[in-house]
Amino acid sequence: MQSWNAPEVPEIEGPGLAPRVHDTAAGGVRELAGSGGRAGLYVCGITPYDSTHLGHAATYVAFDTLIRAWRDAGLEVTYVQNVTDVDDPLLDRANETGVDWQDLAQAEIGKFRGDMEALRVIPPNHYVSVVDSVDLVVSAVSEMLRTGSAYVVGDDVYADLSADSLIGSIGHLDDAEMDRLFAERGGDPETPGKRHPRDPLLWRGRREGEPSWPGGDLGEGRPGWHIECAAIAKANLDIPFTVQGGGYDLVYPHHEMSTSHLREVTGRQHPAESFVHTGLVGYAGHKMSKSRGNLVFVSQLLDDGVPADVIRLTLLAQHYRTDWEYTTSQLYAAARRWQRWQDAAHLAGDADESATIAEIRAAIADDLSTPAAVAVVDAWAARPGRGKAVIGAVSALLGVSI
Ligand code: ZN
Repeated sequence: MQSWNAPEVPEIEGPGLAPRVHDTAAGGVRELAGSGGRAGLYVCGITPYDSTHLGHAATYVAFDTLIRAWRDAGLEVTYVQNVTDVDDPLLDRANETGVDWQDLAQAEIGKFRGDMEALRVIPPNHYVSVVDSVDLVVSAVSEMLRTGSAYVVGDDVYADLSADSLIGSIGHLDDAEMDRLFAERGGDPETPGKRHPRDPLLWRGRREGEPSWPGGDLGEGRPGWHIECAAIAKANLDIPFTVQGGGYDLVYPHHEMSTSHLREVTGRQHPAESFVHTGLVGYAGHKMSKSRGNLVFVSQLLDDGVPADVIRLTLLAQHYRTDWEYTTSQLYAAARRWQRWQDAAHLAGDADESATIAEIRAAIADDLSTPAAVAVVDAWAARPGRGKAVIGAVSALLGVSI
């Protein structure tokens, strides 16, 4: 499906650095240099039943920073993002509000595109709707049934996780923790007939009042959550790909399960080479969540007249892996910083800034340490005799226009 317009990313002088980034599965920082001059990235997309809040924006800006670093290092990046445009939360919201689920999805996807474009987030090469990918899911689930890694329960199909000895190798969680998170995050441990309480749904047979699609031998129905990302990744990326990414709350069950399904349908033990997860953003004492209603929407901030660069700088002032709580004073601080940088850019001359640009690159290559990169630009802005070459580097590497 259509994504959004790409921001201008200026070329900057000198060699960029392949970033070292924290890999959840490895439990440490490692160089992510792709292979053969190419990197593949899959970042889980939104379920379009509400607007983009700052937690989403922080995640997509973090992966945007990774893409900018890769491109600066000369890598060709293939970036895939899905849209979960049919799922229980979307259907529930549509039912509650009396809006057609497709109209709700289209409206929210439209807003998301606008928010991402305003924030100068580089669009995915493949922006893929789940509704448009039902055939891919049907063939993946059918393949899993053929190989015995899936089984039928009534009208539904479930994955048999006992077929996968590597399940659990991303999050390294114990059974009690997986039980808790599975139930909390969309799982159905109590469904009768399952071989294991944590086996995830692959295909949900048609129910009265729910949208459904032809499933061939599976019968009519709709995709489960995790299999959609496996099917979309397989169709749009070379396997193995470099990074599977998303918010930290996707580690389990979503990434553990979708990677397991991808193993089953590709035969590759490690279809994603690394797993990068962003911290969670809180507001007013709790993690920002739709269910709690403590959301700060990007579109609302933009409507209130906050420049997108200020929103982006608010996010970049935090390290992507740290959980943090948003306050309006951070927004004001970012606005003052942006003004200082603009004033400094106005008065910049022709001094050589290759050392400053190298420092910005080094900060970002060190586990995407945008707060350190921002501090380098602060020092540049405070220094007399500064050179204007930094302006292009700020735009290319941080996505901020000054
Ligand atoms: Zn996903």
